[in-house]
Amino acid sequence: MSPIPPAHVRVDDAPDDEQIVAELTGLLAATSGIAELAERMTLLSDERRLRILFCLHAHPGVRSSDVARATGALDSTTSHALALLRDAGWVRAGRSGREVRYELADPVIHELLHSLGSDHLPGVHHAPGSADSDAGGADRAGGSDRAGGSAGSDRGDGAAHHR
Ligand SMILES: [Zn+2]
Repeated sequence: MSPIPPAHVRVDDAPDDEQIVAELTGLLAATSGIAELAERMTLLSDERRLRILFCLHAHPGVRSSDVARATGALDSTTSHALALLRDAGWVRAGRSGREVRYELADPVIHELLHSLGSDHLPGVHHAPGSADSDAGGADRAGGSDRAGGSAGSDRGDGAAHHR
């Protein structure tokens, strides 16, 4: 096994361990939302929901019923899973006509899915100007260009894909 080089190096003289503990304690105290983050992350440690997320990544805007067919799960199970993911802000729903279509809603899950080996279907690319195609780019203004306007989506951030 080839050793993996360290991801970080400390460039100044490291303080003693007591000091490091004090600094870590301060850092954690200044970091909000870790409990909420843990709660959100629990949703990702589920095979069925991960399969759903892989589908939404592979083809954004897919219908719930089609996700169910693709994953071999019941419609009701899939809807429930999608609702949980939506409540947690991982995905969002948009309505076009009578159909509700789902896509990823958070750049974090998008990046994670790529890291996990999730890919797009042929023909699906990252939208020009999206956070994923130009690193560090600002979120595109105001929500989805998908049909329907009020997308039933509560978060306007990070639409990753548009065809
Ligand atoms: Zn992607």
